[in-house]
Amino acid sequence: MTAQQDIAKSIAALTFPGQAFINGKYVNAVSGKTFDCESPIDGRILTQVAACDAADADIAVKAARAAFVKGHWRNMNPFKRKAILLKFAELMGKHAEELALLETLDTGKPISDARGVDVPSAIQSIQFYAETCDKQYDELAPRKPDSLAMITREPIGVVAAVIPWNYPLIITAWKIGPALATGNSVVLKPAEQSPLTALRLAELAAQAGVPDGVFNVLPGYGEQVGQALGRHMDVDMVAFTGSTNVGKLFLRYAGETNMKHVALETGGKSPNIIFADTPDLDACAANSAAGIFYNAGQTCNAPSRIIVEESIKDQFVELVAKHASSWQAGDPLNPKTAMGAVIDKGQMDRVLGYIETGKNEGATVAAGGKREMTETGGYYIAPTVLSAVRNDMRVAQEEIFGPVVVSISFKGDEEAVRIANDTIYGLHATIWTSDLKRAHTVARAIDAGTVTVNNAFGSDITTPFGGYKQSGIGRDKGVHALEKYQQVKTTYIQL
Ligand code: NAP
Ligand code: MG
Repeated sequence: MTAQQDIAKSIAALTFPGQAFINGKYVNAVSGKTFDCESPIDGRILTQVAACDAADADIAVKAARAAFVKGHWRNMNPFKRKAILLKFAELMGKHAEELALLETLDTGKPISDARGVDVPSAIQSIQFYAETCDKQYDELAPRKPDSLAMITREPIGVVAAVIPWNYPLIITAWKIGPALATGNSVVLKPAEQSPLTALRLAELAAQAGVPDGVFNVLPGYGEQVGQALGRHMDVDMVAFTGSTNVGKLFLRYAGETNMKHVALETGGKSPNIIFADTPDLDACAANSAAGIFYNAGQTCNAPSRIIVEESIKDQFVELVAKHASSWQAGDPLNPKTAMGAVIDKGQMDRVLGYIETGKNEGATVAAGGKREMTETGGYYIAPTVLSAVRNDMRVAQEEIFGPVVVSISFKGDEEAVRIANDTIYGLHATIWTSDLKRAHTVARAIDAGTVTVNNAFGSDITTPFGGYKQSGIGRDKGVHALEKYQQVKTTYIQL
C-alpha cells in the first residue's frame, strides 16, 4: 500500500469525538445544539460537535470547583500526580497517529508536521510539567530566629483555558501541563474550527487517572461559551491564546465580573532583521521562508516582517521568492507536503484581502499572491512575498496570519531597531548578522519576549514564551509558566 492509501484506511477507521467532556464523561450540550466540524482540506464535514453555551459552562465550572474543593487532585502526593501526568503523556504517545490524523483533518496542516511536530511537542509539554510536580520547593523569608515566614505556592483554583486553532494540541498542552501539574481544575474551550484533539485528550487524561471534574472540555462558539467562562463568577483565572482583540475582551470580562486573573498570549508581527553582513544569505533566506510559510503562516511568532538592509534588499527578496517555491500548497494528507491549507474560508478571504490591500498600498508581489487548489473544495493560498513595503502600510502593521511575508528596507542599525519596534506587538524578533556586538546590542534594544539570532526558530518547551506590549501578559512554557497558575501565600508564625 502507498502511504496515502494507508492514511485513507486509517481515516476510515477513525471515530470523531463530538460531545463535550464534563466531570469524566462525554455529554451533549444542554441545548442539544451542535455545529459542523469542517475540514479545510476539502470542505468535508467531519462530524457534528456540541455547541456549548453558558448553561454548559455552569455545569463544567461546578464540576471543576467540586473537584478542587474535594482536593483529591491538588492534595495528591506529588509523586502520584506526576505519575498520572506521565501516564497521560504515554497514552498520547500510544494514540499518536490518531491524534495526528485528527489534527490534520481538523486544521489542514501537513500530516508530516502533525506527526513530527504537533503531537511530539504536545507530549513533551505534558512530560515536562509532570516532572515539575515533585521538584518545586517553597521558601522561607529571612527572619530573626523568633519567627518563621513561609512563602508557599497554592493552585489558583478553577482555570478556564481558551485556545486558538493554529496549534490546537500544542497550545492545549502548554496550558493544561502547568495548570494540572500545579493542582488546578481546568475547563478548556478549544477554537470552534479545531475542537477534535482537545476532546480526545480529555478522555485520555481520564484514562490515565486524572480525577473526574479536573479536566473538562467545552467546544462551542467564543461569544457564547468563551464569554460565559470569561464572565463566570466562579472561574479564578483565564489562560487565553488568540487574537489581541479577543484578549482585550477577556480583560474586560474579568473587570466587569470577579477580577479573575487573566494571562494572555496574543498576536504578533515579528521583525526579521537582515543585516548585509549576514554570513550566508541563501541559508538566511531559506530559514526566513520556512519561518513564515511553516503552518501556512498561521503562527503567532512567525517572522512576518522582513526588515532588510537597503544594499542587499533586491538580492534578498529574490532569494526568499526562490525558497518560497519549496512551500507550494499541497494535499495535507500527503506526507511529502510542506504547506497545507489555511484554517477556513473566512481566514482565506481575509488573507487574500490583505494581499489586495498591499497591492493597493503600493507593494509589489514578488511571489504567489493568489488562491490555489480551488478544485479540491479546500482553502489554499500560494506562499506570498510582498516587497517594496513601508512600515506604515496596513500589511506591515496588521497581523495577516497567513502565508504572506512583507519586505521593508532600512539603512543603519538605528533605523532597523526603530522599524522593528514600530508596532503594537512584541512577541518575537530575529536578527541576522555576523557581528556579535551588533547582535547583542540590537537584541537588547528590541521590545520582544523572545529574540533569536541567526535562526528564526530555536525555542522549545524549556524556554519561556510570551509577549511585550499588545502581544500578551504572562509567559507560557518553561518553569516560568507555573507561576501564573499559582497563588503565593505568606504564613507568619511566631515561635
Ligand atoms: P481568536 O479569534 O482570538 O480566538 C481565540 C479563542 O477565543 C477561540 O477559542 C475563540 O472561539 C475565542 N473567542 C472568540 N471570540 C470570543 C469572544 N467574544 N469571547 C470569548 N472568547 C472568544 O484567535 P484565532 O483566530 O483562533 O487564532 C489566531 C490568533 O491567535 C492570532 O492573532 C495569533 O497571533 C494568536 N496566537 C497567539 C499565540 C501566542 O502564544 N502569542 C499563539 C498562537 C496564536 P471561536 O473558535 O468560536 O472563535
Ligand atoms: Mg476544523
